[in-house]
Amino acid sequence: MSAKTKKAIKRPRKITDLPGVGPATAEKLSQAGYTSIEAIAVASPHEIAEATGISETMARKIVVAARETLNLGFKTADIVYEERLRVGRITTGSKNLDRLLGGGVETKTITEFYGEFGTGKTQICHQLAVNVQLPKEKGGLNGKAIYIDTEGTFRPERIMAMAKAVGLNPREALKNIIYARAYNSDHQMLLAEKAREIIEEEGNIRLLVVDSVMGHFRAEYPGREALAERQQKLNKHLHTLARIADVYDVAVVVTNQVMARPDVFWGDSVVAVGGHVLAHVPGSRVYLRKLKGNKRVARLVDSPYLPEGEVVFTITDEGIRDE
Ligand code: ATP
Ligand code: MG
Repeated sequence: MSAKTKKAIKRPRKITDLPGVGPATAEKLSQAGYTSIEAIAVASPHEIAEATGISETMARKIVVAARETLNLGFKTADIVYEERLRVGRITTGSKNLDRLLGGGVETKTITEFYGEFGTGKTQICHQLAVNVQLPKEKGGLNGKAIYIDTEGTFRPERIMAMAKAVGLNPREALKNIIYARAYNSDHQMLLAEKAREIIEEEGNIRLLVVDSVMGHFRAEYPGREALAERQQKLNKHLHTLARIADVYDVAVVVTNQVMARPDVFWGDSVVAVGGHVLAHVPGSRVYLRKLKGNKRVARLVDSPYLPEGEVVFTITDEGIRDE
C-alpha cells in the first residue's frame, strides 16, 4: 500500500466536509457519537435521526454523502479490483491453513471458524491476535486487535507464549490487544458498537475477534419460538461486524461451536445443527474437526472466491503450526 492510499484510509475527512453539515449539525452528530464520515456512512438514516433530532430526510442526505465520500456506492469493477489488492492478510501460523484461506485471514471480511469443542477455535483467535502485530513481511499487519470474549476463555499467558514464539515482546503483545468480556448477547452487541468507536480512536486496529459469536444468543433464545427473535438480533450484530470489517479495513474473526451428529454425514449435519450464522453476510467459513492428538483438519466452506478444500494443521505449545 502506498503512503498516499494508506493516508486516505486512515485519515478520514471531517464531517463538516459533507454537504449539508454545518457547525450546528456537526455538533449534534458528534454528541450522538457520529464523529467521523465512517461512522455516518455505516449508520442508517433512521438511527441518526433518532439519536440527533435531525430530520430523517436530512439524515438520509448526509448518509448518502458519507457513503459517496467513502466510495461505498456504485463503482467500476477496476476500482473494486484495486480495493481487493489492498486487502490485508494475517497469517494463522500454519502455511497450510493460510493457503486454504488464500494467504491468511482477510481484512474487510468476516471469517467464521466453526467446529466442536476443542477443535482449536480459541487457539486460532489467540494466534491471530498475536500475528496481526507482526510486520508485513512476517505475515502480520503491524496492527492491534480487539478481542470480545463471550466465554471467558481468553488467556493472556497463552498470548505471551505465542508472542514469544514469533519473536514479539510478550508484554508489548498484550498491550496491543484490547480485551472485553461480553456477559450476555446485548452486552456483546454493545461491545461491537463500542469496538467501532475504539477503531476510530486508535486507528490501527486490524483484527476484531468475537469468540464465540453464537454462545450467548443460543443460551438466551432457546427453542423454536425464540428462533426468529434470536436470528433478528444476530443478524443485526453480524451486520455491525460486517460493516466494521468493510469500512475500517479490519479482519473480523468469529467462532461458532457446533455439535457433530454421528447419525448424518458430517457436512450436512453440522450445518443443520449450527445454522448458517454467516448466511446473510459476506465472508468465509472454516469448518474444523479433530484428528488424532493435536492435529486438526480445516475445511473451507462457502468462500466467495476460493475453492473448497481441506488442510491439516496442529496446535502446539508455540501456537498454530503445520505438522
Ligand atoms: P470450545 O468450543 O470449547 O471453545 P475451541 O474450539 O475453542 O473449543 P480451543 O480451546 O481453541 O478449542 O482448543 C483446545 C485445544 O488446544 C485442546 O485440545 C488443547 O490440547 C490445545 N491446546 C491448548 N493450549 C495448548 C498448549 N499450550 N499447547 C498445546 N496445545 C494446547
Ligand atoms: Mg473456545
